This record gives sequence, C-alpha cells and structure tokens, in this order.
Amino acid sequence: MSEVSRKPTWQSGDKPKKRPRGRPMGRRITVQASEQIMAIKQRFGLTDAILTFRDIANELSRRRGKRVGVGTVYRFAAGIEPQGAELRAVFGLPVTVAMPVCSLHGVVHEKRCPGAEPKPRAKRRNWRGLALVLSGVLAQARNPPSPPQ
Ligand SMILES: [Zn+2]
Repeated sequence: MSEVSRKPTWQSGDKPKKRPRGRPMGRRITVQASEQIMAIKQRFGLTDAILTFRDIANELSRRRGKRVGVGTVYRFAAGIEPQGAELRAVFGLPVTVAMPVCSLHGVVHEKRCPGAEPKPRAKRRNWRGLALVLSGVLAQARNPPSPPQ
C-alpha cells in the first residue's frame, strides 16, 4: 500500500460536523414496511430493498430522472396526486385532464367562461354598522336618559 492511498481524504480541520442524513438503502431489514409502501412497491415494481417513502422517492428519482420529494411520495400513497405534468409522468398518471365543454360557447375555455354570470357571493355582513349599533346600546345602558321632570 502506498503512502498516498492511506492519507485521509479530509483534514482534521474540515471534518464534516453533521453526519450524513438518512441511511444506506435496504440497511435496516428488520423494519416491516407499511401497507402503503407495499402497495407502491407493487405498483412500480420496486425491489425488496425499498422500505421507506424516502427509498421510494430516491428510486423513482433515479429511474425517471426527475427529483421526487419524499413528501410527494407520501401524499401519493395517501391518495393525493401531484398536480404538475412532470411529476404526474413520474408516477405514471395521465397528464391530460378531462375538461368540461362550455354549454354557452361549445368550446373548452382555458380560463373561466367570459360569458358566464359572476359567481353569486355571500352577502357581506355589515360589521361596522353592527358595531355602531352595539356601542350605541352600551352607551345608552351606561348613561340612561334622565327622566323627564
Ligand atoms: Zn363559454
């Protein structure tokens, strides 16, 4: 063994303060994977080494070439699909969505129909008026009008 290869790659001064996050994939084999993880593994044909949502995120990222967050995988397992087209493609979801055709114009509007009536809004409660009435009532109760003489 040569002198160079035994040299540590880092000097004692620049030793990393934090330990690397996470763990090597498939290291902890005593953990029972949850039903959700099993279902996802089956859906994507993932290997047995995958045990956590983080593993799934890493594996999907590696396979599809698009970084997938662990939260996205977790939400997907909980039945919440990603909205972005790229992420939907990663999860093998259809990217196109069914759009209602406008009954007025017979086409699909990109935004809302310009001919449609504005949405009915809930009637605003007149808080200021209510406060005025209340303060009047309170003032009246504190200083009752003097009885006629
Ligand atoms: Zn329309």
